[in-house]
Amino acid sequence: MCRECNDKENPLSRADYVSVDEMRNIQLTKLKKIVRHCYDNVPLTRLRMDEKGVKPEDIKTLEDMRFLPFMKKTDLRDEYPKGLFGVPMRDIVRFHCSSGTTGKPIVVGSTRGDLDVWIDGVVRSLVMDGITNEDILQVSYGYGLFTGGLGLHYGGEALGCAVVPTSGGNTDRQIMLMRDLGVTAIACTPSYFIHIMDEALKKGVDFRKETKLRHGIFGAEPWTDEIRAKIESVTGIEAHDIYGLTEVSGPGVASSCRCHSGLHVFEDHFYPEIINPDTLEPVPDGTWGELVFTTLDRFGTPMLRYRTRDITRIIPDRCDCGRTIRRIDRISARTDDMLIIRGVNVFPSQIEAGLMTVDKVLPHYHIYVDREGDLDTIEVKVEVTADALGDQIKSLELLRRTIAEAIKKIINISIKVTLVEPHSLPRSEGKMNRVTDNRKK
Ligand code: ADP
Ligand code: ZN
Repeated sequence: MCRECNDKENPLSRADYVSVDEMRNIQLTKLKKIVRHCYDNVPLTRLRMDEKGVKPEDIKTLEDMRFLPFMKKTDLRDEYPKGLFGVPMRDIVRFHCSSGTTGKPIVVGSTRGDLDVWIDGVVRSLVMDGITNEDILQVSYGYGLFTGGLGLHYGGEALGCAVVPTSGGNTDRQIMLMRDLGVTAIACTPSYFIHIMDEALKKGVDFRKETKLRHGIFGAEPWTDEIRAKIESVTGIEAHDIYGLTEVSGPGVASSCRCHSGLHVFEDHFYPEIINPDTLEPVPDGTWGELVFTTLDRFGTPMLRYRTRDITRIIPDRCDCGRTIRRIDRISARTDDMLIIRGVNVFPSQIEAGLMTVDKVLPHYHIYVDREGDLDTIEVKVEVTADALGDQIKSLELLRRTIAEAIKKIINISIKVTLVEPHSLPRSEGKMNRVTDNRKK
């Protein structure tokens, strides 16, 4: 067992270590209850179950879940704002909205109990990361309708951390407070942390010497192991991965442990399945597919078999940390982000992985997709170190080619690479948009 992660004695983590049989029993009991709740209270779910000829009492085992209908983001949009609520308004204590890129946002209402379930996931994530009540936690996720800020805020407080609710933005002040208050952990998107890291370096602030920062709790957007390595080597902190989505609660649906090998799902609350997105059939453990969640004990906006559009797999073997709850692989792609370039599927994270293997490349890039005649074109603009740009034209050309080849090795198509100066590409204080697809204009 990994010594770092051994928090088996911590009562907050009890559910992470129960036997698989006990967990399946807990899940089945909760599943029967939530299916009944949906059938009785959510008209759309009732209609769909009736259409499929399935009644709540037909759910006798966890495998019977495959008879239940799926839910999708479009259902939340179609039923905007409260059509999928499962309780009367007097029981709802909070609204959250997902950022939603087009049209109306999606709205999720939570009961007091739903918030407790959510926060339980955040607390267990933080414990998994090695955070304790001794830590000072700066929450630099946006506060408000977005779940990142309030999720980490209440989770941090529940664990007993001293929370610094900076929200996103005002990067100079973030750095000042981090130093002055002796912040030991920060929670934000990985792209915002890279921005903070850059600004600190520009001011000559050495993270290792001038801050007490030890942990980063990063999520809300895809990021790669390569970026994680970069962050850790520049700052000396340990970078953790936290996953979640508004529809299912918020951050804290799954979290990496200190083995940094996938993310443990808090499956006593959020039951995971992986399906083949074309056939909609569940796939065996270890096979990649679309992640689907059933919220086992959230009643305000209950979700049965919610299709996340995130791509991952269930890691078949047990983690070295000793936890029994299942793991999913790092979520490096969502179907929404998939680009089809000359018939080939390309994910931005694959380009990122290629970029980050090359020396002198900075973690700032933007992808441009266009069409010339009938041909799709793809270009990545990437920042490289100032000394690289000062090199002879011949060395620059070599660097450009090395990058293009590193990417081609992964995605199998040629990509135009343009090297740009440090600090010339846009930065983000929240989720980063890394792609401009001019074909969609
Ligand atoms: P939106 O879908 O509008 O971005 P959310 O703010 O609820 O809404 O974001 C949830 C989505 O963010 C997830 O479905 C997933 O695609 C992405 N996400 C969240 N955490 C992570 C993570 N740790 N790694 C990769 N992607 C993540
Ligand atoms: Zn583990």
